[in-house]
Amino acid sequence: MLTGAGISAESGIPTFRDAQTGLWAKFDPMQLASERGFRADPPTVWRWYEWRRARVAAAAPNAGHLALASAAPLFDMLTVITQNVDGLHARAGSTPIELHGSIMRTECLAKCGFIENDPKRLPPGEPPRCPQCADWLRPAVVWFGEALDTSILHRAEVASQQCDLMMVVGTSGLVYPAAGLPALAARSGAQIIVLNPEPTDLDVLATVVVRMAAAVALPKFFASG
Ligand code: NAD
Repeated sequence: MLTGAGISAESGIPTFRDAQTGLWAKFDPMQLASERGFRADPPTVWRWYEWRRARVAAAAPNAGHLALASAAPLFDMLTVITQNVDGLHARAGSTPIELHGSIMRTECLAKCGFIENDPKRLPPGEPPRCPQCADWLRPAVVWFGEALDTSILHRAEVASQQCDLMMVVGTSGLVYPAAGLPALAARSGAQIIVLNPEPTDLDVLATVVVRMAAAVALPKFFASG
């Protein structure tokens, strides 16, 4: 299972496309979610992440996350690989491979080793300064242009190569290397199901494309065994 922002849409967490409305309409998420964007304007990027953290804190896993978590016993092995940083798979009871980190975790921009998992325990400041080395603190997510943790990516690649079926849920398929995992699975002999209300670049790999919302389709899919 490879999931993206769309699986959390029904929990009220905006996808990047949805995020381009309202308060943040004039900002490009690709710029805000990058080290370059952060260095150009640390307060704006920090506030965007505070806004996103507040959305995540107020949200709950939806029927899609919950169906996935409760489906694990139906399979010899069900691995959830997610690009999401919202932690909702884990809150639903899955143990996901989180490719892009966690929005609730904060780390030092200079990578001095400082990490804080609880946003309430951060020092003041927008953004705060690192208590160890005084550089900026930043969200512990993988920004555009940054490399993924190699051991996490390796686990995702192995799971993709070993699966018989990969369901690709709620991702635009534009962000690599995550978007390359369905092709890796297909090359290794897996069937691909794409679940997304909109067309994506990954549809060409799919044996079956389901044009439905994740929170509606996943409970039906797993209820049918
Ligand atoms: P994306 O915003 O590029 O694409 C979202 C996809 O979800 C689209 O293809 C859209 O058609 C689909 N979608 C929308 N509503 C849906 C629904 N109800 N059910 C199923 N699909 C639905 O997101 P992405 O492909 O995950 O990649 C972009 C990057 O955005 C990733 O790096 C990810 O970390 C980050 N991101 C994460 C979150 C989150 O953690 N919830 C939110 C926004 C962006």
